Amino acid sequence: MINPFDDVYFMKRALQEAQLAFDKNEVPVGAVIVMNNQIIARAHNLTEMLNDVTAHAEMQAFTAAADFLGGKYLKECTLYVTLEPCQMCAGASYWTQIGKIVYGASEEKRGFINLNTTLHPKTKVLGGVLENECSEILTRFFIEKRNLN
Ligand SMILES: [Zn+2]
Repeated sequence: MINPFDDVYFMKRALQEAQLAFDKNEVPVGAVIVMNNQIIARAHNLTEMLNDVTAHAEMQAFTAAADFLGGKYLKECTLYVTLEPCQMCAGASYWTQIGKIVYGASEEKRGFINLNTTLHPKTKVLGGVLENECSEILTRFFIEKRNLN
């Protein structure tokens, strides 16, 4: 069940991060990590700028959240991410033991669900929060990119 007072609110914050990626000509995916209704990390995809295929929004958010907490486990935290995590990010989330993953748009080809990536047994998952907004920004990005080339 989507809670409009926090899931939607925090997904909007993740969408703001996606917009920052968009403005830098990065594939627009954004993430925030929340603990006790407070954002402790925010990040967006930076694979082009860092020239690093691992610089997905989620990976950077995990690192930032662990830095903030001074510990590597994120058991009490929720990750909000605009796109369904890929295998790499879902795999990393296993090691963080994150409490919950909430994502926006589905990723049929490279998302962790169709690829059957194992999450930590304690990690809950909720998809489809602001799904339209989250996929719209990606569609807009790829349309603009196509028109430029
Ligand atoms: Zn990823």
